[in-house]
Amino acid sequence: MLFDTHTHINSEAFNEDREEVIQRARDAGVTRMLVVGFDRPTITKALEIIDQHDDIYASVGWHPVDAVDMTDDDLAWIESLTHHPKVVALGEMGLDYHWDKSPKTIQKDVFRKQIALAKRLRLPIIIHNREATDDVVQILKEEHAEDVGGIMHCFSADWETAKQCLDMNFYISFGGPVTFKNAQLAKEVAQKVPLERLLIETDCPYLSPHPFRGKRNEPARVKLVAEALAELKQMSYEALAEVTMTNAKTLFGIEK
Ligand SMILES: [Zn+2]
Repeated sequence: MLFDTHTHINSEAFNEDREEVIQRARDAGVTRMLVVGFDRPTITKALEIIDQHDDIYASVGWHPVDAVDMTDDDLAWIESLTHHPKVVALGEMGLDYHWDKSPKTIQKDVFRKQIALAKRLRLPIIIHNREATDDVVQILKEEHAEDVGGIMHCFSADWETAKQCLDMNFYISFGGPVTFKNAQLAKEVAQKVPLERLLIETDCPYLSPHPFRGKRNEPARVKLVAEALAELKQMSYEALAEVTMTNAKTLFGIEK
């Protein structure tokens, strides 16, 4: 019984075999999934998927790489979609300094606007951070993101950063990289994160866990992430699965 809290099964990478991928996930024990939309096409597809599948929920937001393209209309559209009962979070949003398509000032502005919207709507937020840790934490603090909390998705920063995010009511989510042999930092941080704030994800089609590194990822492989974390936490796979399922349902307000 696993909850993959970050999938992009709405990606074109799954256009040929999406239903098979979803079925393989269920067969592997993935009983809940969150599909994350981050621009017009991926949000539209995410909504289509949640209307067809009882066990899949959605998050809607605007990716920092494309921040330069976001209009006020886009933000109003995102807000209108949050009335859907299976849209349970806002994001992914954040900062990405790896790619330079969107200037930092615009990324920050779009990030702040989405945090403000989430606070107005009382929805948790899903944070994307790539090579921008200091600025992400600063903006979360300045915008009082602790009012809604959310998920630090595919966490790769250090324990000091994790602590600050935990203090702001965020959950720490680990994906495929925590299974890599050389991922010493992620493993150390995962060991320290309190169980009641731990989540698992694939970020598929990206970041396939070992031994599928470099291949297209899919939600069934969140099982490998759960196994790696259970070992790091020195607990059973079943107990790890149960606590991360409870955490995700609590955060997203999912009862069943
Ligand atoms: Zn993502």
